[in-house]
Amino acid sequence: MLVDGFKRRINYLRISITDRCNLRCIYCVPPHGERKVKHKEVLRYEELLRIVRIAIKLGINKIRLTGGELFVRKGIQEFIPMLASLEGLDDVSLTTNGVLLKDNLDILRTAGIRRINVSIDSLKRVNFRLITRFDYFTKVWEGIGKARDMGFSPIKLNVVAMKGINDSEVLDFGRLAIEQPYHIRFIECMPIGLQVNSLAFIPNSEIEKALASKFGPLIPVSPGHNDGPAKRFRFNGGQGEIGFISPISHSFCQDCNRLRLTANGVLLPCLLSDREVSIKDPLRRGCLDEELIEAFLKAVNLKPECHPLNLDNDQRVQRKMCSIGG
Ligand code: SAM
Repeated sequence: MLVDGFKRRINYLRISITDRCNLRCIYCVPPHGERKVKHKEVLRYEELLRIVRIAIKLGINKIRLTGGELFVRKGIQEFIPMLASLEGLDDVSLTTNGVLLKDNLDILRTAGIRRINVSIDSLKRVNFRLITRFDYFTKVWEGIGKARDMGFSPIKLNVVAMKGINDSEVLDFGRLAIEQPYHIRFIECMPIGLQVNSLAFIPNSEIEKALASKFGPLIPVSPGHNDGPAKRFRFNGGQGEIGFISPISHSFCQDCNRLRLTANGVLLPCLLSDREVSIKDPLRRGCLDEELIEAFLKAVNLKPECHPLNLDNDQRVQRKMCSIGG
């Protein structure tokens, strides 16, 4: 079992399948794009499977695939079923921008994946294009609708609300959670990389207030075992839910149960710290499993008690979100 120095049990691994993405969201990637990890530096699928098998032995039972955008990587359609069939995993889920979702839903369903997160920061085509720098709103929206019709559940829609950019749509997202079974999750914009001016930051408390004054009280939903850091609510008579992930205004580090694996084979103990442990180096030296176990233990031991960012400082994390995997 993996337990860190602050007695937190680590059972959740988020894997960035690739650092490449088919969108360039303004808060995530610079306008000209990001320098890509070279192909030979990216973990091969068989390497990922070996790492996950080790992780399972150490008590990891929950995996989320992310990126970059996982569906742009060749061979992902064969990899997902292999990963999902590994014994010892209770939960495999993914986070996608939804651009290629529609054509991949059958594969996900056959692999037994039911829970998906789609990032969609605007419900308006023009605004979607402004934020993502691509005109793919219709594709994403169709993918989400098809996932709903196929019975995927829950379908969580991740929204990063930013002042002057998409804050005017907060009530539209609230209405969506009333009319449709989607779980809208507002994620506070984190100061990662240099993309978004900190003036765009909106604390989730502001969004909560705006929603409650328009649609009535937000009724707390009791936490489930797959919730993670989201505080969940629903509206009276609403079909869906509202969730708030507030890493900046209300740090939830005391309950952190996760490690991240980057596409180029680095284990990250914390999203918002620059500490890291390479697992690719021993792997490519042809090491025994013990050295991979050692890399996991080292990463867990490096987990900070809490990340340093809060409302009162303007520190930034240098690493880019597209390379960490969100
Ligand atoms: N391509 C996939 C997607 O768009 O969902 C997965 C990768 S993306 C980096 C994962 C999540 O990180 C997305 O929901 C995105 O909105 C979120 N994200 C990226 N940069 C962020 C930031 N600076 N603050 C908060 N969330 C961020």
